[in-house]
Amino acid sequence: MSLAGTTGTSALASKTADIVIAGGGAAGAACALAAARGGARVLLVERSAQLGGTVRQALLHTLGGLFDDSGEALHGGLAAELTARLLAASPHTRKRRMGKAWVLNVDPEIYAQVMEQWIAAEAGLEICLQSEIAKVALTRGAVQEVVVRTATGPCALRTGALVDASGSADVVRRIDPACVHEGAALGGFIVQMDGVAADALRFPAGVGLAREIRQAAANGRLPPQCASVWLDAGVRDDEAYAKFSVAAGTFDAPAMQRTAASLHDFLRRLPGFAASRISRYGSLGVRDGGRIVGEYCLSEHDIKRGSHFPDPACSACWPIEHWDPLSGLTLEYLPSGHRYQIPLRSLKVRGFSNLWAAGKCLSAEPRAQASARVVGTCWAMGEAVAGQLLGLASRNENAPAARAVAGACEHG
Ligand SMILES: Cc1cc2nc3c(=O)[nH]c(=O)nc-3n(C[C@H](O)[C@H](O)[C@H](O)COP(=O)(O)OP(=O)(O)OC[C@H]3O[C@@H](n4cnc5c(N)ncnc54)[C@H](O)[C@@H]3O)c2cc1C
Repeated sequence: MSLAGTTGTSALASKTADIVIAGGGAAGAACALAAARGGARVLLVERSAQLGGTVRQALLHTLGGLFDDSGEALHGGLAAELTARLLAASPHTRKRRMGKAWVLNVDPEIYAQVMEQWIAAEAGLEICLQSEIAKVALTRGAVQEVVVRTATGPCALRTGALVDASGSADVVRRIDPACVHEGAALGGFIVQMDGVAADALRFPAGVGLAREIRQAAANGRLPPQCASVWLDAGVRDDEAYAKFSVAAGTFDAPAMQRTAASLHDFLRRLPGFAASRISRYGSLGVRDGGRIVGEYCLSEHDIKRGSHFPDPACSACWPIEHWDPLSGLTLEYLPSGHRYQIPLRSLKVRGFSNLWAAGKCLSAEPRAQASARVVGTCWAMGEAVAGQLLGLASRNENAPAARAVAGACEHG
């Protein structure tokens, strides 16, 4: 692995790649790992200084989309390997039931470290941090060349395919804004606390606490944003997370940190929180920053009727967890044992031969994206796109076997 953009000295090592991927979150990491394992020359371009995506940046600790509603693994391939690696990395990582769904409870920092070490060990993968795709040169609907803006200046690179795993369709929007549906779902601001008593959020204490917070927000003893805050136990016994809802375009980080500090002052007077402190503030988490216009648009109807497709990328069954900007959260569980598929066509940008997306910026209706966007599903989508580009029958139950891919990525 080489790290252009992190050292401040190097330009890109390569002048050609089989696949360029924008975004080092769940989908981008999976796509990069699968493609590199398949023998492709991969460039992974990440805007921030670190890999890990929204999980790391926004402090997510409950990974959804890895298990079905009976707690069985939903995917093979990289998503299953991720679960195994996370479980091995920390004794605190564990499978947990949340309502009718199952998640993997993991410290976001452990998740990011596991991802970084995994990627660093993969040959054929070049990482470019603090960088962006600045320009895309196209010929007859095919991406030919990208210009990557790195910390040390722009670098042009010929590529066989481009994958937008930015979580917000940022690259596709840059090519043509008409190829993106803008999103409006509520975002989230998450704060991690430690020093919390182990039973502080257990039933019924947690219910009483939520009621007290709502009352305090209603009568002005807490800022109004605290009315809908969600408190959850953390990964270690002495941790808790507070998740605030934030309307798109209104996020003010210092103001939200003050709001979180007010909530924490309030909590410290209550049983179980006297010795607690805020240990980390997340950055704004954007649930729907834009979805591509794909060859197929996954619909709410597809999800509810359990649609299967001739070109499946992966299966999914997460509830429709929709964060409406006006009415807030609605959670609609799918029937027990229910699964739907995400077709590869919903990951291919319409009108282009080798321009793809993976992860939460897939082509989907807002309420379909509200189910398909969870972490495990994003890993499975990223791997499936790589499999398709490698020219393999891409089922994420079968991780791409290592093989040479000379020419296979051309205009995938
Ligand atoms: C508040 C909130 C809470 C959530 N809670 C959960 C949860 O509990 N469980 C769960 O499973 N899912 C949760 N999700 C969904 C979760 O965000 C997604 O499942 C997952 O992070 C999406 O992965 P991704 O790879 O598509 O995008 P991301 O993880 O967002 O990764 C995209 C990456 O691309 C980078 N990037 C952006 N633009 C560019 C660019 N132009 N060039 C290069 N890089 C770029 C970003 O810096 C980022 O690293 C939550 C989301 C939010 C916002």
